[in-house]
Amino acid sequence: VAKKGGRGRFAFFADEMDAFVKDRQSLEAELRAALSEGGQLELAYQPTFATHSGKLSGVEALVRWRHPTKGLLMPGTFIPLAEDTGLIERLGEWVLAEAARTAGAWPIERLAVNVSQGQLKNPGFADKVKAILAETGFEPDRLELEITESSFAGNGPEAKDNVAKLRDQGIRIALDDFGTGYSSLSHLRDLDVDRIKIDSSFTSAILPGAGGSAIIRAIIDLARAIGLNVTAEGVETDEQRSFLSSVGCHELQGYLLGRPMSAGQVSRLVETAKG
Ligand code: C2E
Ligand code: MG
Ligand code: MG
Ligand code: MG
Repeated sequence: VAKKGGRGRFAFFADEMDAFVKDRQSLEAELRAALSEGGQLELAYQPTFATHSGKLSGVEALVRWRHPTKGLLMPGTFIPLAEDTGLIERLGEWVLAEAARTAGAWPIERLAVNVSQGQLKNPGFADKVKAILAETGFEPDRLELEITESSFAGNGPEAKDNVAKLRDQGIRIALDDFGTGYSSLSHLRDLDVDRIKIDSSFTSAILPGAGGSAIIRAIIDLARAIGLNVTAEGVETDEQRSFLSSVGCHELQGYLLGRPMSAGQVSRLVETAKG
């Protein structure tokens, strides 16, 4: 009986595995088609604000996939797939071109776009970005690319070379999700970046009455000492906002101040912000 049960369980797992692989394969084929045919990918834009003045400082483009049968998919459900299958390069190019075309007309200081490790390790990446900015007429000094620390992890000089070339073009670099993964405060000085974005897991650890977070305070002190800008992500409460303000965090991003929104909503927001 035990043996039979064991086989039964195995057959069950094998079926599950099979279904998982098939789902992934069909999602990959659908993403490939979406990239070739167009019309299914779209961008949301989340604003960032200067902590002290409360002024709008920029927007971050966040990709969504309006899937024909599954509805609106968030990046967590398809970016890892795009990274594993190499589709991330085409997806990333679409995101940058679309964001640059859309945000070009907005009177904002900064457009932020996320970049995956798989894009940054391609030796042609910086040139590709340059070509897209030339095509769309978007000024390089208004673009900030968000990369994660793990992009520098593997071997090879490509990521660092790309960062150097991008910065030569006037493009700024932010370290996204700072504090997760490979973070090492001592390496921060060696990475040529302009900004760090403190991961939302640190922001959400700022609890009412707890006196804030010693880690955030330390990160901000160090970042300021070496001349980096700091944005805190995931700001959801007034307590978090006032603590971050008291420890000198330059910019804030989060649901408290603004959710990811459509291009139309951003147009209205920047009109009001102009006053
Ligand atoms: P991220 O770059 O760290 O973006 C911030 C994420 O946190 C966004 O999720 C945003 O909607 C969410 N968020 C913002 N404020 C709050 C808040 O106050 N509370 C909470 N709970 N969440 C908040 P989203 O849009 O699902 O994006 C997830 C991640 O997917 C992004 O994290 C980024 O790493 C990646 N991603 C998004 N668009 C792209 C893209 O075009 N290319 C690449 N390579 N990655 C992308
Ligand atoms: Mg980001
Ligand atoms: Mg982030
Ligand atoms: Mg994050």
